[in-house]
Amino acid sequence: MNMTNSSQALAQVLSNLADGSIKVVDLTHPLGENTPVIALPPEFAQSPPFSREVISKYNETGPAWYWNTIHVGEHTGTHFDAPAHWISGKDLPNNTLDTIPAGKHVGPVCVIDASKESAADADFLLTPEFIENWEKTHGRIPAGAWVLMRTDWSKRIAEPSFLNIKEDGPHSPGPSVACVEFLIERNVAGFGTETVGTDAGQGFLFDTPLPCHTLIHGAGKFGLASLCNLDQLPPTGAMLITAPMKIVDGSGSPVRVFAITPA
Ligand code: MN
Repeated sequence: MNMTNSSQALAQVLSNLADGSIKVVDLTHPLGENTPVIALPPEFAQSPPFSREVISKYNETGPAWYWNTIHVGEHTGTHFDAPAHWISGKDLPNNTLDTIPAGKHVGPVCVIDASKESAADADFLLTPEFIENWEKTHGRIPAGAWVLMRTDWSKRIAEPSFLNIKEDGPHSPGPSVACVEFLIERNVAGFGTETVGTDAGQGFLFDTPLPCHTLIHGAGKFGLASLCNLDQLPPTGAMLITAPMKIVDGSGSPVRVFAITPA
């Protein structure tokens, strides 16, 4: 594509956005004091909930302006996992938020609908077979694509059933070990879920524990957790924009995620 053609292509997208034939879907939950935070076993340090204090609000300490100081763990709410989040990715190049090239934050997205299976089984695991079956209909997952697992789990965000913690730990759907290996073979950009983290609730018990951290980040790939509105996306054909904060040496951050989709 020459310069003129690429300028025309972008102008066409902007025109279609203006006339509503292409739309922007926000895949981000509101972030606030009620945002659920992952609970680790008690021997580990915990991430605190989001909190804030007012610096000033149109008052004597700031008569015309309003601003807050916020306190938030890097992995809170709808958030981005960088490869440095896990020990397996700690020595990779460009593994933190300030060093990931900007171009990696825009790409194609494949949405795999496992909502029925997840409603029937809180421990449902996405498998290579499930994805291969999806590919028979929608085509092969392209290199550099984001793969998002739709479970409709985001609709539970205000309920205890979102974290779904039982006596033996959390129960929520996610990818199997073989599934994560399959996605790495497909050379995806990353994997995203509607649950509090990218791994299944019981993923700490797998042969390779927490494969969507251990294996995905070890392969230099990214994660997105606590997404919503995946039911508004087509299986293929949308573009994902992920924009975490550019924190120096950051392992992750709350993120705004937009999908650009045909209306
Ligand atoms: Mn995370």
